Amino acid sequence: ATPMSIMTATGRGAQAGVLIKNAEALERFEKVDTLIVDKTGTLTEGKPRLVSVLPEPGHEEAEVLRLAATLERGSEHPLAEAIVTGAEDRGVALGAASDFQAVTGKGVKGTVDGKSVALGNLALVTELGIEAGAFTEKANARRDEGETVMFVVLEGQVAGLVSVADPVKETTPAALKDLHALGFRIVMATGDNERTAKAVAARLGIDEIRADVLPADKARIIADLQAGGSKVAMAGDGVNDAPALAQADVGIAMGTGADVAIESAGITLVKGNLDGIVRARRLAHATMRNIR
Ligand code: ADP
Ligand code: MG
Repeated sequence: ATPMSIMTATGRGAQAGVLIKNAEALERFEKVDTLIVDKTGTLTEGKPRLVSVLPEPGHEEAEVLRLAATLERGSEHPLAEAIVTGAEDRGVALGAASDFQAVTGKGVKGTVDGKSVALGNLALVTELGIEAGAFTEKANARRDEGETVMFVVLEGQVAGLVSVADPVKETTPAALKDLHALGFRIVMATGDNERTAKAVAARLGIDEIRADVLPADKARIIADLQAGGSKVAMAGDGVNDAPALAQADVGIAMGTGADVAIESAGITLVKGNLDGIVRARRLAHATMRNIR
């Protein structure tokens, strides 16, 4: 590419669905050496599907799914949608929920048909004082397939596990290959379990991951890298990603994601595909070469 002005670069970016907020974002992006990518909704489609329902002895598949889906009707999380849709597809009738409570980065709690029910990850189960060691092997078998496993807790006991799978976006593998070739250090950050994260990362050739990350931790991970001298861009889509996008030298939001993420970002990828980052980097190089 030939050297170009900032206006030309932002104009070309916009035509290709890469919205660059201002000259500063473009300048900063040229210096970025480390790219943190959220997993769900950024590397993956963010549209998980229910894969398996694994009841514990004494419980039925339909019962476990009914409890999970009834509770998740109160949540807007993509995992919730997967479970509710999965229940509908399997013809499971939902019950009545009350006292619904979302536990950020962990899951949901509430009352279903008069009984206390919780649904979420190991951190949630541990928070409820439940010993979950006995389920590790069963859960790991699903995680090694890249699936996210959730525990369904009924009256203080695990009634079963449910797992969902979130397909990798079609454009992700090629974009990651280009980003590696451009010299970025790529780190996948996710609130998901380490085992699941590793399985997904391995398929994508990403060698660095930060898993079991709570939303607030993403910003801290970036601050630590910055303190070590790295220039960091963060690509994310969720409401939870907004603080990290703001902390990064350059925040990159998926246009398909939450409005607050877009507001916190210096670059927005309208189509929500990572190949937009490749384009942004090339535009940044071409522009800065001209200015220097
Ligand atoms: P990510 O960083 O992958 O976008 P989140 O921080 O939103 O993930 O969630 C982290 C983990 O917390 C999920 O992988 C899941 O195990 C659990 N979790 C969060 N919300 C829910 C929910 N509504 N139902 C079940 N589990 C949930
Ligand atoms: Mg996400």
